[in-house]
Amino acid sequence: MKAKECSIKEDEIRPEDIFNEFMDLSAKDAQGFFDKSKFVEIACPACNSEGIESCFEKHSFCYNHCDKCGSIYVSPRPDLSELIRYYSVSDSQKFWSDNILKKTGDKRKEVIMLPNITRIEGILERDNRNPKRVLDVGSANGAFLTEWKKRHLDAELYGVEPGKESAQQCRDLGITTYENSVENEAGNNSVSGDLVTCFEVVEHVQDPELFAKAIYDVTASGGVAVMSCLGADGFDIQLLWEKSRSLMPPYHLNFLSQNGMVELFSKAGFDRVEIFTPGRLDVQIVEKSIERGITPDLSRFEKLLLSKGENVLQAFQKFLADHCLSSHVWIICYKD
Ligand SMILES: [Zn+2]
Repeated sequence: MKAKECSIKEDEIRPEDIFNEFMDLSAKDAQGFFDKSKFVEIACPACNSEGIESCFEKHSFCYNHCDKCGSIYVSPRPDLSELIRYYSVSDSQKFWSDNILKKTGDKRKEVIMLPNITRIEGILERDNRNPKRVLDVGSANGAFLTEWKKRHLDAELYGVEPGKESAQQCRDLGITTYENSVENEAGNNSVSGDLVTCFEVVEHVQDPELFAKAIYDVTASGGVAVMSCLGADGFDIQLLWEKSRSLMPPYHLNFLSQNGMVELFSKAGFDRVEIFTPGRLDVQIVEKSIERGITPDLSRFEKLLLSKGENVLQAFQKFLADHCLSSHVWIICYKD
């Protein structure tokens, strides 16, 4: 499942100065935005275990580490209404759209979206599939579907997008758009895709079990759902743990382990679930973190490894990706 790779640098998609500003705003929001009386306690969102191996606090949110499947998750967490309010009106969310996404949009297209399309094509080709109805969950401004159509002229495009402005942008591009969350829209029988895509959403959702069932419902029989997300088993997450910038509340509530992901999407009804991790940034993220003075507790061997030159570290990153040890995860779910 190889896609043609172009090089990627963390700075290009998360420029240091504006990303720092975004993180400061997120930390402020995390502390002050929410009515915490509305927070709900949850068990592990992947395997339902209530057992906790360990936990830590970040910006007043508590991350638990599941003792059964190894997932990391926020509990207690905002209920759905608080989370929707957050994504609609919080300062950090506005900053993310107005600054980071707008300023890095072209680069993100080149180094993330186009390789994503090639990777999906590889998956479909391997399985000899030629899906006609393509449904993007969280279709944002419609950019992915528009690019898809350029390469697949007979595709019918569908988007599920809760944001009013984004949903309108999708419609303007000729995409049949359901202005809703997938969880709320899943009961509507007309919504379904032979190929369902969903990029970087799993880590944000309030109720992963409900979300997984909704993804199952909107995947047509004989279809496939392809999702990307961040996972708990990746090198940078395992090494940096609570010091990881990715573990940022309230944005990232769920860092599922690979076992957790398989359990969650199998429980939702999918007949087969495959995981792979095409990540390219784990080692860079750890190196950058150390440069910033955020040093994890490293073993002697890890220090030795990280002192090696670019060639060794590139080969090591490839090893991580090839053996499901990167934090950038793809979940492929098949429905018979
Ligand atoms: Zn678990």
